[in-house]
Amino acid sequence: VGATLALLRANCDRCAALCCVAPAFRASADFAIDKAAGVPCPNLRADHRCGIHARLRERGFPGCAAYDCFGAGQRVTAAGGGDSAEHTFALLAVTRRLHELLWYLAEAAARSVPAGIRASLERARAETEAMAAAAPGPLLASDAGGHRRRVDPLLDEVSRRVRRAWADAPSHASADLAGARLRDGDLRGADLRGACLVGADLRGARLRDADLMGADLRGADARGCRLAGALYLTQTQAGAVAGDARTTLSRRLLRPPHWAPGAA
Ligand code: SF4
Repeated sequence: VGATLALLRANCDRCAALCCVAPAFRASADFAIDKAAGVPCPNLRADHRCGIHARLRERGFPGCAAYDCFGAGQRVTAAGGGDSAEHTFALLAVTRRLHELLWYLAEAAARSVPAGIRASLERARAETEAMAAAAPGPLLASDAGGHRRRVDPLLDEVSRRVRRAWADAPSHASADLAGARLRDGDLRGADLRGACLVGADLRGARLRDADLMGADLRGADARGCRLAGALYLTQTQAGAVAGDARTTLSRRLLRPPHWAPGAA
């Protein structure tokens, strides 16, 4: 699992900076500028490195600092990209989607589940990996969205099984919790799928076994928050919160460099 997860993390040293060219940005709290899709960011250097990499947050690009392509960029780069820039960006988009699913499947497989579910997870992983490994033509023609919809019930089932140990856990799926005061809250086993937790106060909160798939955690204060053991947490989500030395995180995830070392 460890080797698999390493392949599902961005490695910018092995990528042709595709995510600095392909997406469009809107000037916002995440990006300091407007940028059209397919246009290189003005901060991108000729060597495919970001000219402000060490100062992204200070320069108004926290969205870049938090972003993780799930390893899609280096995979598309290693495969030589597509016939054109548009082709390459399309390959990046579908590969990222499949790699994101591989991340969730690896997360699910790390849980204690019955043998039948484990076999289904492995089957889904193998199918997803085969799709991602396909040649550019079949990859672009693949129905990644339909495949995801077929696999989602399996991820849901693992989530239900993990969370049922917490009988009184709250359900906040898709809830608007922007700026919510959840300091020291017991959110263990909570359903937080798709919840908006932008700017929420999660200091000292406990999130073990909470399902965080798709939750928007941008700007949440997670100092001292127990994120270790949270389900379906991604590197991008971890990078979007403000943590500190007391914030716990599963070993599957890298500690974001901007997390403050001090006390809350
Ligand atoms: S600011 Fe840096 S990381 Fe962000 S898109 Fe531009 S070059 Fe890439």
